[in-house]
Amino acid sequence: MNGWTLVYEGYDPDTERLREAICTLGNGYVATRGAAPEATAGEHSYPGTYLAGLYDRLTTTIAGREVENEDLVNIPNWLPFTFRRPGLAWFDPASAELVDYAQELHLQRGLLSRTLRVRDALGGLTLVTQRRIVSMADMHLAALETTFVAEDWEGPLEIRSSIDGRITNDGVARYHELRGDHLEVTAQGIGEDGSVWLEVLTRGSHQRIALAVRTTVTRGADATARQPIDTPGEVGSELRLDLRRGKPAVVEKVACIYTNRDAATYDAALEARTWIGRSGGFRELLSRHEVAWHHLWSRCDTGIEGPERAQLILRLHVFHLLQTVSLHSIDLDVGVPARGLHGEAYRGHIFWDELFILPFLNLRLPVLSRALLEYRHRRLPEARRAARKAGYRGAMFPWQSGSDGREESQQLHLNPRSGRWLPDHSHLQRHIGSAVAYNAWRYFAATGDVEFLRFRGAPLVIEVARFWSSAAVQEPGSDRFEIRGVMGPDEYHDAYPDADRPGLDNNAYTNVMAAWVLCRALEIIDLLGGPDLDELWRALELTSDEVERWELLSRRMLVPFHDGLISQFQGYENLAELDWTAYRDRYGDIQRLDRILEAEGDSPNRYRVSKQADVLMLFYLLSGPELADLLGRLGYAFDPAMDIERNVRYYLERTVHGSTLSRLVSAWVLARLDRRQSWASFAAALESDVADIQGGTTPEGIHLGAMAGTVDLVQRCYGGVEVRDDTLVIDPSLPDDIRALSLAIHYRGQRMQLEIRPDGVSLRSHPRSAPPAQVAIGDEELVVLPGTAHRISARP
Ligand code: BGC
Repeated sequence: MNGWTLVYEGYDPDTERLREAICTLGNGYVATRGAAPEATAGEHSYPGTYLAGLYDRLTTTIAGREVENEDLVNIPNWLPFTFRRPGLAWFDPASAELVDYAQELHLQRGLLSRTLRVRDALGGLTLVTQRRIVSMADMHLAALETTFVAEDWEGPLEIRSSIDGRITNDGVARYHELRGDHLEVTAQGIGEDGSVWLEVLTRGSHQRIALAVRTTVTRGADATARQPIDTPGEVGSELRLDLRRGKPAVVEKVACIYTNRDAATYDAALEARTWIGRSGGFRELLSRHEVAWHHLWSRCDTGIEGPERAQLILRLHVFHLLQTVSLHSIDLDVGVPARGLHGEAYRGHIFWDELFILPFLNLRLPVLSRALLEYRHRRLPEARRAARKAGYRGAMFPWQSGSDGREESQQLHLNPRSGRWLPDHSHLQRHIGSAVAYNAWRYFAATGDVEFLRFRGAPLVIEVARFWSSAAVQEPGSDRFEIRGVMGPDEYHDAYPDADRPGLDNNAYTNVMAAWVLCRALEIIDLLGGPDLDELWRALELTSDEVERWELLSRRMLVPFHDGLISQFQGYENLAELDWTAYRDRYGDIQRLDRILEAEGDSPNRYRVSKQADVLMLFYLLSGPELADLLGRLGYAFDPAMDIERNVRYYLERTVHGSTLSRLVSAWVLARLDRRQSWASFAAALESDVADIQGGTTPEGIHLGAMAGTVDLVQRCYGGVEVRDDTLVIDPSLPDDIRALSLAIHYRGQRMQLEIRPDGVSLRSHPRSAPPAQVAIGDEELVVLPGTAHRISARP
C-alpha cells in the first residue's frame, strides 16, 4: 500500500466479490466491476457492467403481490478472456495451481492490473500480466491488455475472447426472487476485420445497447489460427499463438459501447461497429486516459500529511466518485446512484445521498454539481404530479429516483434473518425534497451562478417550499404548524408502536429543514427582484398570500423537545430504552437491529434506537449559528455552545450506525467537541467500503455518500473550507493525526491551491481570467486575485 496504489495479494474466492466492487473501473458513462476476465457469475464472482442512467423495469409476483422494480441494467459483458494450452482446461483461478497472484488498483492512472504465475497440468510455468482501463478520455472505450510469458516451455497457447450477452441482474442475493432478465439479444455478428459485435434491447425501457470488441495479438507472436465463436448470445473468437520460451506475447482486447440514448449517435450498433475500427490500441488509449485522469486529479486530489492508509483511502473515495460522475456525465441526464455504478444494491437508485456528495463537487468541479441538479430539475413535472396526487401542492420528490423520477422505493423488502417479506414505508422520507433544495442553494452559494438560480435553482427551491407549505397543518387553537405521517432519516422508525398506519409526526429534522427551505424561498424572492422575479412569479403562478404563508410557517413550524433536547419526533420520549448490553452480548454486531428485532417478533419502533443520524443531521447541514438563528426565528431558544453537545451525546449513545452515512455524520458533529472521538468515527467511515465494515454490503456496490462525505469532511470540516455570505472562509480545525492538508479548490472562477497547517494557511490562486474573490482566513479578510499567493499565519 502507498498513497496511490491499492494492492491485493493472493486469490481469495471468499472476498473476490468485495475486490470486484472496490476494483471497479468507470468513467461516469460506463463502469465495469473488477471481476477477473475469465469469471462468470457465480458464488464467488459477479462480473457487472453498468451504464449511467440506463434502467429497465420488470414485474414479479412476490408474497402474493405483483411488484414492479426498476433496475440499473447489467449490460453484456465485454471482458470474457481466457487461455489454455491445447488439450488442457481453460484457466480458472479457483482450480489452477497459482504460484503468484496479485492485483493492483492504480488510482493515479485509473488502471487495474493483475499479475499471476500459473503452473499448468503439463508442468509449464506461465507468467500472465493484465492491465485494464475504462477510458476517461474516450467515454465509449474500454480495453484489456494481456501479456503472456512462457517461462520454461514453448509452444501453442489458445485464447478465448468474446462478448457475453446472456446476462441478467442477479448480483444481490436478497433480490434473487425478483426478475432480472432485462436483456434480449437482438443481433450479433462478426465484422470483416475480425471484430465482433452484439446488440441487446431492454425489455421494458426498449433501450438499445451495442458492444463491439476487437481482439488482436500486438507483439511477440502471431495468431496462427482464428476460430469464430457465434452461438446465441455470445460472439467472439478463439485464437492460437505460438509462444517462444521467455518471450512476451501481447494480446489486446478493445471494447466499444454505445446506446441509442447517447448524444451524437445515429444507431448504437452502427456506432459501436464503426468506432471499434477507428480506435487506437491499448498504449494509445492508456496514454490519453492517463492525461484525462491527471487533469481530474489536479482538481480533485485531497492530500494529507498523516496516516498513509487514510491518504490512500481518501484517494480511493475520490477515484470512485469521479468514476461514477465525471465530465462525461454532463450530457447524460443522471443523478448519483447511492451505490455507484459498482453493483446492483438499491438497484442503482438515487436517494438523498447527493447531500453528502455535492458539497465536495461544488468546490472542485461545480460543473458536475450543476449537471446533477439538472437531473432533478428535469424531474420536477413528475414531482409536481406526485404532490398533486397525494393532495399537496408544489413538488414531492421521490425517496428513490431512477429513470423518469417516479417513486422507485420498493413496496416490500426481505428480512434475510427472518425470511419474511415486509411492507417498506421508506418512501415516507419526504425530507428528500429539502435535500434537493439544499443542494441547489449550496451550489448557488458556492458558485454565485445566478443564471442557474433563476432557471433551475429557484423553481426547485420554491416548489419544495410550496410542498412543505401545503403539507403543514395547524390544529384548531394551536399557533404551531405540523408535518404528520412522515419518516425521518432514521429508517428504524416508520410508525408509532402498535399503530395501524405508518408514519410519524413532526420529525424534527424534517420540520427544521422545511423551515430552512421556506426561508431560502423567501430569500430567493428578495434576491432576484426585478424582471427575473416577475417572470418567476408568473411562471410559477405565485401569489402574495402564498408567500405570506411561507413567512408565517418559517416562524411557526413545530419542533418537538423533551428534557431540553430536540426530540427526534413527537412522542419519542414515550419510547422504551433498549437493553443495550443484553443485545450486544447476545448478537455482537447490532448494526441491523431492525432485522434482529423483527426476527424476534419485536420492532425498533418501540425503542429509542436509531439506525443513523437523524436529529444530528441538523448539526451536519447547518452551522451552529445558522441553526440557532433558524430555531430562534421559530421561537425556540437554542444555545449552540451547550445544546449541540447535549444532543450529540444523547443520540450517539442510541445510534447503531446501520447506514455508512451515520459514522460520517458522527465524525462531523464531534469534530469541534471531541477531536479524538471524531477521528475514531472518521477512521471507521474511511473503512466502510475498503474493509466492508457492514459485513457483506460493499460487494453489492460501494457507498458513495460515505465515500464522498469523508473527503468533504476533510475539506470542509477539518480544513474548515466553506462558503459563507459570498466569502470563502478557511477556518481549520485539524485533528492531531493530520499535520497538513493540501487542497485544490475551484471558487467563483478561480483555481486555488491551499496548504493548511496548524501554523497557518498558504493560498495560491492560479493565473486565469476571473473576478477577485473575498477570502477570510482566521480573522484576516483578503481579496484574492488570480495569479497571486498569500500566506496567513495562525494566531499563537
Ligand atoms: C440509508 C439511507 C440512504 C440509503 C442509500 C440507507 O441504508 O438509511 O439514508 O440514503 O441507504 O445509501
